[in-house]
Amino acid sequence: MIYSKRIQQLPPYPFADLDKKKAELKAQGKDLINLSIGDPDLPTPEPIVKCMQAAVAKARHHQYPPYEGTLEFKEAAARWYQRRFNVRLDPASEVLALIGSKEGIANVHYALVDPGDIVLVPTPGYPVYDVAAKFAGGIPFNMPLGKNKNFLPDFSLIQDKIGRKAKIMHLNYPNNPTAAPASDGFFNDAVHFAKQHNIMICHDAAYTEIYFDNRKPKSFLQTPGAKEVGIEFHSLSKTFNMTGWRIGFAVGNAEVLKGLAKIKTNVDSGQFTAVQEAAAFALDHAEELTPAIRATYQKRRDIFVEALNKAGFKVEAPKATFYVWMELSPEKTDVQFADHLMRQTGVIVTPGSAVGEGGENFIRFTLTAPEARLKEAVGRMQQL
Ligand SMILES: *Cc1c(COP(=O)(O)O)cnc(C)c1O
Repeated sequence: MIYSKRIQQLPPYPFADLDKKKAELKAQGKDLINLSIGDPDLPTPEPIVKCMQAAVAKARHHQYPPYEGTLEFKEAAARWYQRRFNVRLDPASEVLALIGSKEGIANVHYALVDPGDIVLVPTPGYPVYDVAAKFAGGIPFNMPLGKNKNFLPDFSLIQDKIGRKAKIMHLNYPNNPTAAPASDGFFNDAVHFAKQHNIMICHDAAYTEIYFDNRKPKSFLQTPGAKEVGIEFHSLSKTFNMTGWRIGFAVGNAEVLKGLAKIKTNVDSGQFTAVQEAAAFALDHAEELTPAIRATYQKRRDIFVEALNKAGFKVEAPKATFYVWMELSPEKTDVQFADHLMRQTGVIVTPGSAVGEGGENFIRFTLTAPEARLKEAVGRMQQL
């Protein structure tokens, strides 16, 4: 049997050695502290679970859901955008339910990209942008996110001939893995660039609700003209500790959403209506449900970052997301450092290059472990 070229072109997995060592240490019974997983360790808030329990029992939810999502869910998403971002959305045409935002981020390529088209991809970044572009026959063009540019892409590095062939530009703020927020004016520049080159912007807003010190990140759709040139992906995964539930949504440009819905109609049949009912409840109660989640991460961040700096590792406190993106001294490479750290201390981190070009001199910690474990991790790192 021969796999499709689509599969064959997937990059080789470069971290097999790290994974093998991890399995070995685990088998030896070593106490590992895994700070490499972007998956909240806390459970979904109880009221959402209760709502789901009741929703599952409703027989009308047991049939196929409507393809584009239930009107109730889409209305709740529109209400939340109005309250949180002061952005007005038409629930029928400007909101589309997704089976997790990853699904939509991948499928949007099939709606917009023909073989040979360019897709502008931030790197390092969420690997789905690059791989899904290739699956659709597109050609990813890297936009490096460097520390010297505050982890924002420099549009002046994208030549006219590239811009002309580009169909999609992916953006993601607050950013995974760098934890950077979008600067004031950045989304304006992005809208301007997109209009100039006739490009659709896909903004991944998975982390807008994981912010600290009361500095609320903006929605891309708050930018004048944004709806003409883009869509935004939101997810309940990080906002409400619901990664396992698989529910998100896309909002913005109605024509793009119509195209994405056309693809989805042909490959999936929507998310379980009961999950949509519980997700609508979550969005309608976001103001009561999300502060405790943010407070937990903020406390962890403060403890972890302070301890790291005291131990002689220089890190900046992230303004948003549950990631800490630590630069290594120039002579160290990320994979070596992560390997050494795991062997010596049992602390597992993500080497920066695992999330793309430009990450070679960084490692990524996640704050998805209890305070005591984060302290323990730094205590062990001190002995490196
Ligand atoms: C976690 C994450 C998502 C969310 O994915 P879901 O499919 O909604 O669970 C999207 N983008 C980024 C950058 C993420 O880190």
